[in-house]
Amino acid sequence: MPTPVIASDAHLAHDGLIELVHGSPVACYESPARAVEIERALRAADGYAFEPPDEHGTAAITAVHDTDLVDLLEHVWTDAVAAGHDGRRPLIPDTFATEAFTTRHELSGTPLSRFDRLGSYCFDTATPIVEGTYAAARAAVDVALTAARRVLDSAPLAYGLCRPPGHHAGTRLFGGYCYFNNAAIVAQRLVSLGASRAAILDVDFHHGNGTQQIFWRRGDVFYASIHADPARQYPFFLGHSNETGEGDGVGENLNLPQPADLSDDAYLAAIDRTLEAILSRPGSIIVVSLGFDTYGLDPICDFALTTPVYAEIGRRVAATGRRLVILQEGGYYRPHLGNNAVAWLRGAEGR
Ligand SMILES: [Zn+2]
Repeated sequence: MPTPVIASDAHLAHDGLIELVHGSPVACYESPARAVEIERALRAADGYAFEPPDEHGTAAITAVHDTDLVDLLEHVWTDAVAAGHDGRRPLIPDTFATEAFTTRHELSGTPLSRFDRLGSYCFDTATPIVEGTYAAARAAVDVALTAARRVLDSAPLAYGLCRPPGHHAGTRLFGGYCYFNNAAIVAQRLVSLGASRAAILDVDFHHGNGTQQIFWRRGDVFYASIHADPARQYPFFLGHSNETGEGDGVGENLNLPQPADLSDDAYLAAIDRTLEAILSRPGSIIVVSLGFDTYGLDPICDFALTTPVYAEIGRRVAATGRRLVILQEGGYYRPHLGNNAVAWLRGAEGR
């Protein structure tokens, strides 16, 4: 049976993006060409059945995100244009409502303009909003939920070519190129449909701070992440090994921060640790947050993984016997992005 690949063209209009890197505006590394390259490689490979996403409603999103975040992302662009924004440059917050802003008292009101409110929902200057952003983020959620549906309908694995990615987005937070948390929305859907437990395996280079935050006090969704040590890499403030969850979520958050120049073998050892932890818990489906920014040639990251190890990672994850909802997160070395995706999926397919 061919592997279902769920993809949408809506992401193409999430374009013209810039981010500030050490104060300099540069073209966003997270570009439409990334997903185009993955799609090209999968279409050129045999064994993949492309499908458009089914439309899912807002309720699946507000099951993990606050409704005011959805409202903000839906309307901020048109609001800003109506207020005089030139309609060409992306929106990036001018102010950030950091914790220190409100340490001694609560905010007693909110700005009238959605643009002025952006900075109380956003934690970085890498996550611009353009006219096509909201539709692209909604489509990425639909892609993820449709992939989950194929797996619930008995596919052993399905791949959601999500763009924008999702794992940095929290309950009322966007950032890190992410607006809605595709993997968290899927995990929430699985438990709301009756699964007693869900597991998310995050193999993006970066810590999925949003996924961690959403399930921090939850005992029904286990989150395991292998990522760069936040002492040296984005998102800097979260992702340490002593972050293990609170309340019902105690012990249900596993962070494995890693040093620079991480080798294939060291990565596989970390994979084995996460899979052992997942298998020690009940469940039948793993949601995979799949990033290829772990690749040795990635322009913004510092691990040293090679293409063959992606096949081996896919093989080991599939060898758990659990079905896999595989959702695309990061990965910025475009020339090899497609090959790495094909390698991972073929490994998981056992071929
Ligand atoms: Zn990443």
